[in-house]
Amino acid sequence: MNDTSISLLKQALPYLRHHRKSTMVVKLGGEIAANREALTSLAGDVSLLVHVGIRIVLVHGGGPQATEMQKRLGLEPVMVGGRRVTDEATLDVAKMIFAGKINTDILSALRGQGVSAVGLSGVDGDILHATKRPPTEVVDPATGERKVVDYGLVGDITRVDTSLVALLLEHKYVPVISSLASDADGNVLNVNADTVASALAKDLQASKLVILTGVPGLLRDKNDPSSLVTRITTEEAKAAMKSGSVAGGMLPKLKALVDAVEGGVGRGHILSGTQPGAILLELFTSAGCGTLIAEPHDVSEVSDGAPRQ
Ligand code: ADP
Ligand code: MG
Repeated sequence: MNDTSISLLKQALPYLRHHRKSTMVVKLGGEIAANREALTSLAGDVSLLVHVGIRIVLVHGGGPQATEMQKRLGLEPVMVGGRRVTDEATLDVAKMIFAGKINTDILSALRGQGVSAVGLSGVDGDILHATKRPPTEVVDPATGERKVVDYGLVGDITRVDTSLVALLLEHKYVPVISSLASDADGNVLNVNADTVASALAKDLQASKLVILTGVPGLLRDKNDPSSLVTRITTEEAKAAMKSGSVAGGMLPKLKALVDAVEGGVGRGHILSGTQPGAILLELFTSAGCGTLIAEPHDVSEVSDGAPRQ
């Protein structure tokens, strides 16, 4: 071990102490689950977190894989505001890809790193109840254009029950939850995974909601990866959503994080899921590596060099 590693370990110690026994919800985008190297690396990071006593709940969707399978089956994917329009055939794809392939791939990657994980969807154990979203008027933040969109078999969460999740955490399992829910009649609905992660984090009153995605964090200019916003308040995040600087899949992420932090979750983070060790850097070093979202009074205390815990 060289001096840098020793200094990093020492730097991490207060954060390790701070986070012990806390619960964190970590959402990973499909891009990470599709990338074997990134998934193995993330599983190693989760293993470390679990072994220092942090309770981790993983949530995933699988947009890119669902899109790829849709195309393979001759279906045309339709996305509006970062959310998938879901007909019967698309829902079948979502069930196969989210609850089937991706969930299993994540479980096996975790097992490979010594983590006992249990695969679930929001349909298991009454975790997520949703109602079918009625046709909704959507405003394009870039053009201001309004249109009515029927998202099809897409759900809005009405109730969350984390008893089963808590039971698994109590017994040191890592629940891995895919973004499907069902309504009162047992119809399965597709829910955006960022929204699922937020609802679970709120119900568990998690200390953190961490969203791992394909970009380094929230970008001031979505085409410039070097324009990373390192910290933002919930109020600023709401303004950014209206400004047109945030588009596509980043919109539900910011909304999910704002809802979570306003709903009692300690802090929110958006990080690159493909940068090795991103989650450890963000949690255990003062500089961090992604975007931190917190209440205004909290974020103002997080100046450069101050803890991002
Ligand atoms: P995931 O599969 O992780 O949910 P998404 O593709 O749904 O990922 O959402 C992330 C995408 O949002 C980014 O890859 C980027 O193309 C887009 N995006 C739009 N606006 C921004 C922004 N201001 N900052 C970062 N990413 C943005
Ligand atoms: Mg997305």
